[in-house]
Amino acid sequence: MFKKILIANRGEIALRIQRACREMGVKSVVVYSEADRDAKYVKLADEAVCIGPAQSAQSYLNMPAIISTAEVTDAEAIHPGYGFLSENADFAERVEKSGFVFIGPTPDAIRIMGDKVSAKQTMIKAGVPCVPGSEGALPDDPKEIVRIARAVGYPVIIKAAGGGGGRGMRVVHTEAALVNAVQMTRSEAGAAFGNAAVYMEKFLENPRHIEIQVLADEHKNAVWLGERDCSMQRRHQKIIEEAPAPGIPRRVIEKIGDRCAAACKKLGYRGAGTFEFLYENGEFYFIEMNTRVQVEHPVTELVTGIDIVQMQIRVAAGERLPFTQKNIQMRGHAIEIRVNAEDPYKFTPSPGRITMWHPPGGPGVRVDSHAYTNYYVPPNYDSMIGKIIVHGDTREQALARMRTALSETVVEGIQTNIPLHRELMVDPKFAEGGTSIHYLEGWLGQHNR
Ligand code: ADP
Repeated sequence: MFKKILIANRGEIALRIQRACREMGVKSVVVYSEADRDAKYVKLADEAVCIGPAQSAQSYLNMPAIISTAEVTDAEAIHPGYGFLSENADFAERVEKSGFVFIGPTPDAIRIMGDKVSAKQTMIKAGVPCVPGSEGALPDDPKEIVRIARAVGYPVIIKAAGGGGGRGMRVVHTEAALVNAVQMTRSEAGAAFGNAAVYMEKFLENPRHIEIQVLADEHKNAVWLGERDCSMQRRHQKIIEEAPAPGIPRRVIEKIGDRCAAACKKLGYRGAGTFEFLYENGEFYFIEMNTRVQVEHPVTELVTGIDIVQMQIRVAAGERLPFTQKNIQMRGHAIEIRVNAEDPYKFTPSPGRITMWHPPGGPGVRVDSHAYTNYYVPPNYDSMIGKIIVHGDTREQALARMRTALSETVVEGIQTNIPLHRELMVDPKFAEGGTSIHYLEGWLGQHNR
């Protein structure tokens, strides 16, 4: 096992990784920007090194600064968390070339999955069902684009091959709007992701977002750790996640889970990963793979009892997975809400000083957050300041626990989306389970939000 790991991230996930290291007796080095100087996990770290100013480009995305910090602190491995450099194949490669272990898949695997066009092609070959659409990236010829859309059938969605975080997508309902939409998505994608390639998929009208968590080691072992339902989204961004997915027969899930684990073996995948699917009328359609730990990993940890972050570290150190598929059992139900520093109904960011932070507690309640009373939420980064995750024997009990947890939670000084979560947890349709990816936006519209 490693003696020391460098954590190349910030916020709640930096704290989460730090906790995993502590439990395993591994020392950790935290890198931070000037904006995160006072964060408690920075103060509590075994070692902390300021690597640059607030702007991510000069700190959390600054590869030379991160790698040289690993050098001077004698770290052996680098955990990239999520976001920032976590899915940057060039970074993974530079980390390895500099003699450190990248806690994640190989640069090649990241590269293939990071381009959604090559990811889909790889999945088709591995026998994973995909959303029908263009074969590869769209050509330049407008006539050809029109022909492809006719074959796929409207509505279609134009997606950036290099897109992420719910950005770089455009739904097209009519042929008249098609060519222009492709051009706009192309130029936005070029500017935002440095890759102007776009592709086309059938726009599914009422799917759910269901994803499969996988873990694989270097010794050709791969398992899947159940599924998560992440259908509660606004602008393609998840705000509530749960495991298991309500109302889907186990044998249907098992079939797709086994396919995902088999695909990992076939690809020689290593580390944690997530296969994301849209699920409609009993069928799964692959949309993308995330080659890193995800924000919503705790719901899987609570139902399986497996520490995903520790497993990432173990397999990166060359260890074998300590279990096989038949050892993995799901118990009860878990729900996570993302706490964002934002206006709960207008969604404008609300950074600033938290004058009062009182997290919930009690049986089956977990809070993953770096926030505390007097913590200053910097305006420079994502608005998520933490997550509240609950576990119960049944979905009903988990929902009741989340309602209780939210009633206890106090955050003052800044706005958060807690009031929105309180309303959603008593919404009859959400309580029923199985809402589609469009449900939340419809709900917000109906409630004039
Ligand atoms: P990102 O990498 O930006 O998260 P994804 O490909 O994972 O992009 O898609 C994010 C979300 O966008 C999905 O969860 C879903 O809500 C919506 N979406 C993507 N593809 C489709 C599709 N073909 N039909 C309907 N909705 C889609």
